[in-house]
Amino acid sequence: MALIETVGLTKHYRMGDSIVRALDDINLIIEQREFVAITGASGSGKSTMMHLLGCLDRPTAGVYLLDGRNVAELSDRELAAIRNRSIGFVFQTFNLISRTTALDNVCVPLFYARRSAPRPAARRALERVGLGDRITHKPNEMSGGERQRVAIARAIVNDPILLFADEPTGNLDSRTGEQIMDIFRELNDQGVTVVLVTHEPDVAVQARRIVHMRDGRIISDRTREQYIAEHKAELAAAAAAAAHAGPDLDTAPPTAGAAMADGEPTPSPAEPAPRPLTSSRPVLMAGANGALWFGLMAIFFLLLLVGCGVYVKLTLNPKQMGPGKPPPPQAMIAGLAMLVSLLLAFVSGLIGLFWGRSVRRKIRTVPGNWTGRRRALWGAICGGVAVAISIVLVVVPIVAMLLKARA
Ligand code: ADP
Ligand code: MG
Repeated sequence: MALIETVGLTKHYRMGDSIVRALDDINLIIEQREFVAITGASGSGKSTMMHLLGCLDRPTAGVYLLDGRNVAELSDRELAAIRNRSIGFVFQTFNLISRTTALDNVCVPLFYARRSAPRPAARRALERVGLGDRITHKPNEMSGGERQRVAIARAIVNDPILLFADEPTGNLDSRTGEQIMDIFRELNDQGVTVVLVTHEPDVAVQARRIVHMRDGRIISDRTREQYIAEHKAELAAAAAAAAHAGPDLDTAPPTAGAAMADGEPTPSPAEPAPRPLTSSRPVLMAGANGALWFGLMAIFFLLLLVGCGVYVKLTLNPKQMGPGKPPPPQAMIAGLAMLVSLLLAFVSGLIGLFWGRSVRRKIRTVPGNWTGRRRALWGAICGGVAVAISIVLVVVPIVAMLLKARA
């Protein structure tokens, strides 16, 4: 069974009146233990593809089977577990915590996985990438290549079966880039499936299979040998440019290093700054929680309304009622409470419904956000139910009164 299989995978973004077809009808199969490069010019849809295949984002249409399981049918919790245990990610900007040692940076996924005694495993991962003697160094005391190796150690510390790397050599000089590619090749030899995203042909040819994209579509899918034969001129030009690039830039920590280590992406000249994966998550999470609260509040007010109604029904003596007799004070208070509850149920239901719907839509379109979808959905459902019931409670007595008046 293929590790990755997509059928008609599509991702569209709505930008005002137009639609950006970031990914268009992608049919791709990647077997276990493959080493695939996804390449193409900037804006061709490589990162979008990686976000979808890495379960960081959801498709607009199409099916994605990961290890035979339909990703669309997995719960948020199952997906989070898959991302944490089975998939590793490496990014162009390393995304390390700057004030923390290499060892603790690598421990982070183990904390999420609630593994006891994470340090020995983190140390082994750092040894696998050749940094056994740098474990107490902080990112700003390391070169770019070393930082990327820490990021790779962090990506493999949970022994993933699948490793995604988005422009992992983009911030490195060519020699350091080659060392990083050697590590990916070694990991692939050890059985890890590697999917590498790069716009550089000379990096892409280091994979065993090269998938070339343009305008959100796959335009070719070649073995390494076929690709080299077809792109001779381009590769020769890239080799010449690398030879002219001058001395190794990576012997000392780059000056922009502190900012990069802080996780703030520094745009490289060739590529636009990578889209942040997590920046909108707290906002959307708060939105999802808020919508759920309003939905639940609406249901609470409905229950209060029913409670007051039952109270009035049980305590009211029909003999006390009638034309000209004022209702007893407790019935007045309960009646007032019913009115207020109805109003509050309607208003908070409306907020829960629309807020939940809008948060859900955003969660669908912003990369890196899977969590909170269900909360927003429940907020919208509870809100919708409360609004519908409140409307019925107002409309039915009015209609009944009108009918009575006509009869
Ligand atoms: P690549 O990684 O190959 O440079 P991307 O996958 O980042 O390309 O982007 C593919 C296309 O989708 C581009 O035209 C880009 O502008 C667009 N795009 C990507 N993300 C978004 C987004 N969140 N909203 C709108 N358009 C997007
Ligand atoms: Mg990209």
